[in-house]
Amino acid sequence: MNRFDYVKPSTVAEAVAAASAPGAAYLASGTNLLDLMKGNVVRPARLVDISQIKELTRIETLGNGDVRIGALVRNADLAHDAAFARDFPAVAEALLSGASAQLRNAATVGGNLLQRTRCAYFYDPASACNKRAPGAGCDARGGDTHQHAVLGWSEACIATNPSDFCVPLAALDAIVEIEGGSGRREVALEALHLLPGTTPERETVLAPGEMIVAVRLPAAARAFARHARYLKVRERNSYAFAVVSAAAGLVIENGAIKHARLALGGVAAKPWRAHQAEALLAGQPAMPHTFQQAADIALRDAKPSGDNAHKIPLARSLIMRALAAAAQGTPSRVPALPASPFSAVPGALHDA
Ligand SMILES: Cc1cc2nc3c(=O)[nH]c(=O)nc-3n(C[C@H](O)[C@H](O)[C@H](O)COP(=O)(O)OP(=O)(O)OC[C@H]3O[C@@H](n4cnc5c(N)ncnc54)[C@H](O)[C@@H]3O)c2cc1C
Ligand code: SF4
Repeated sequence: MNRFDYVKPSTVAEAVAAASAPGAAYLASGTNLLDLMKGNVVRPARLVDISQIKELTRIETLGNGDVRIGALVRNADLAHDAAFARDFPAVAEALLSGASAQLRNAATVGGNLLQRTRCAYFYDPASACNKRAPGAGCDARGGDTHQHAVLGWSEACIATNPSDFCVPLAALDAIVEIEGGSGRREVALEALHLLPGTTPERETVLAPGEMIVAVRLPAAARAFARHARYLKVRERNSYAFAVVSAAAGLVIENGAIKHARLALGGVAAKPWRAHQAEALLAGQPAMPHTFQQAADIALRDAKPSGDNAHKIPLARSLIMRALAAAAQGTPSRVPALPASPFSAVPGALHDA
């Protein structure tokens, strides 16, 4: 491992000041960052350990009904918060489908949003990777691409964003609160991550030294609570990232869809919101043929980036399943994907 400074501030202001040094990186629980450091994939000059900043550990309901989740709230604590899971069940379901119980007990909200791609070539310093070393090339092209992008990719990079949590957050118009040297600002979760273009090393809109302090779910997102699902296809039943995933939320009145939300994971360098499919669904009957049209539109621009053409029909079929499951109504427990064999309450969204 390389030499680095280590500081442990106790306030956001101290953390932001400490992170203004060149090459600084925030350390939350380290389940991603420390792996990358041990593998010599990233070499921060300074670690700003934010794990003791108490003000970032709260889940609170604001006066306007929005729910504000501090950046250091643990993934497991958020998923098992009864009020949160009741109001935003697809978010809880996505969190419970991620990683393992042990990891979810450690992983934080901010760390999950900013975890790095799982492209195997990115993790291997012996491989050429434009994201790790701009201009180096991309060994994934022509390599093993079964996990890579089918939407929004570029010649420079075909990696995907691995987060489950971000997918329903994108669907529900979540807002990210960011603190930096010049104060606080907000961006839509949907706009936080960038497509690779010619600069795949630039993964988010965060400026150097900026820190995520919270994520907010708007009060209006509760409208989807009764008809919401997150479905994830993975290569084994636990401890695996999504091959593809889909978050679906519907407001249904008299058998017709009044409003729809749809986002995909595992298909692009960012959580992929399917706006055109949502527009098609509005006003239509909640029926399989409507879901099929929505899935077709959502994948209309998809193209393989290698030997991953299978992801396109897989995503299409998953969208239809997620919409149909959402239309049936949100279950009080998640039946299909036990979160982990090690979880004490596999699949539970909240106490019955
Ligand atoms: C075996 C394994 C399986 C996994 N499976 C899944 C899965 O199925 N689904 C899934 O979604 N995830 C999965 N994960 C990823 C896991 O969810 C992430 O490692 C975790 O969410 C990162 O959180 P952390 O607090 O440990 O972040 P850290 O590792 O501390 O940080 C991650 C990154 O975020 C930055 N960062 C952290 N907090 C902030 C902040 N507040 N502001 C600015 N920057 C910040 C860090 O600098 C770093 O770049 C898996 C991980 C492992 C090891
Ligand atoms: S796909 Fe992106 S992350 Fe993977 S090797 Fe190519 S440039 Fe690097």
